Amino acid sequence: MLFNKILKLGNPQLYKRSSPIVPEEILFLKNEINLLHDLILECQKLNGFGRGIAAPQIGLMKRIVCLNLKGKKYTLFNPVLNKLSKEEFELWDDCMCFPDLLVKVKRHQSCRLIFQDENWKTQTWEIKNDLSELLQHECDHLDGILATQRAIDTQSFKLKN
Ligand SMILES: [Zn+2]
Repeated sequence: MLFNKILKLGNPQLYKRSSPIVPEEILFLKNEINLLHDLILECQKLNGFGRGIAAPQIGLMKRIVCLNLKGKKYTLFNPVLNKLSKEEFELWDDCMCFPDLLVKVKRHQSCRLIFQDENWKTQTWEIKNDLSELLQHECDHLDGILATQRAIDTQSFKLKN
């Protein structure tokens, strides 16, 4: 099953920092990038959620994030967040690495996202709300941080069923 390719909570790989990617590598990672996009769709089908995935979630320790936003696919290389707003909001976060668990976290309301696109052009997005929290979640994966480590307190965990 495709979804088994995703490392699950507790796997030590998930807590490691990923390396930057250089443009020469992209060609050789085509299959992995396609797999990441397929896994988002698979997660939507199986679990009813999924808009983004980070490469370390399949054990590929590279700074790549794939998004599927309203059916449109984006591949982000070396994404960086800055201009994190002082305003934060709370939400119950989920993750493909623990599809049955929800974790209450705080995220910045808005931020700026800078990344290289598939043509290695620098893109800058001003993002807020659901997109802001999504990219904070995905960029955390690149630094080896899971939502479980962002839990607001010890009662911020909830099983879905
Ligand atoms: Zn995740």
